[in-house]
Amino acid sequence: MKLSRRSFIHHAATVPLVGSLPTLVSADLRFGEASITTVSDGHLILPGSLLFDAMPEVELQGILSAYGVSASQLAPECNLTLYRDGRNTVLFDAGSGADFMPSAGKVLSALETQGLAPEDITHVIFTHAHPDHIWGVLDEFDDPLFAGATHMMGRSEWDYWWDPQTATTIDDARVPFAVGARRRMQAIEESVVLFDDHEEILPGIAAVATPGHTPGHMAFEIRHGTEAVLVAGDAIGNHHVAFHRPEWHGGLDQDPATAAASRHMLLDRLTSEQMTLVGFHLPGGGIGRAERTEDGYRFANL
Ligand SMILES: [Zn+2]
Repeated sequence: MKLSRRSFIHHAATVPLVGSLPTLVSADLRFGEASITTVSDGHLILPGSLLFDAMPEVELQGILSAYGVSASQLAPECNLTLYRDGRNTVLFDAGSGADFMPSAGKVLSALETQGLAPEDITHVIFTHAHPDHIWGVLDEFDDPLFAGATHMMGRSEWDYWWDPQTATTIDDARVPFAVGARRRMQAIEESVVLFDDHEEILPGIAAVATPGHTPGHMAFEIRHGTEAVLVAGDAIGNHHVAFHRPEWHGGLDQDPATAAASRHMLLDRLTSEQMTLVGFHLPGGGIGRAERTEDGYRFANL
């Protein structure tokens, strides 16, 4: 594969090196009367084996070295999407909070740079209930941090993590995810609104079912006239293998085959409909475009 010099330099400048301080990158997009910004919650540190283990080794090595990505350790950014239309101030996902990883849970200082306090958020819309997306919903007293907000989650995602049986049926490595999600969901139960695929959940914001990463993962299409932005969450979870070989099964997806089908569907729509993409774990603040290549796709920041 080929990387342009510009994209390589951009990549090198925005992806934190192992052990470096969290990057607090943010990106902006004017969108009709509304604005879309990403605010950084910091980044995660993950063993590469979690994602790469099932992938064909030789081809994988070639892709990772072209992107300058380590096979042993990943340090993906965590970019929360902030949507403001003058009436609603919407945060997509709540970040990691204090208890997941020391490198993440930074969203409050990122919101402050936007002149926002937690009580200014009118809606928190979840893509899914993994720790880096929902654990940040509680404050240090285990009360809802975004106290004035309506919390919104896809019905099938809610039902899956709400079920006490999930902690006994899910694979061992994910048991803490199940226990942790349910505890946060109990705290927001009073204010939660559930929704289904294709539903317009707020004016101009529609749910797009993208299962696989988790059973009820949702992406969101934000549309103003002919312009559209897709908030993809973790349905497209990285800027390298997920674009270059979207059909490969990734170990971070709970149902890898279903996740690959969702990823293909999104990449096809993003490119054929020329939509802007916002990805939670994509680099440079996460806002960009998917572009077709000879044998797959690539991510380009705007
Ligand atoms: Zn994530």
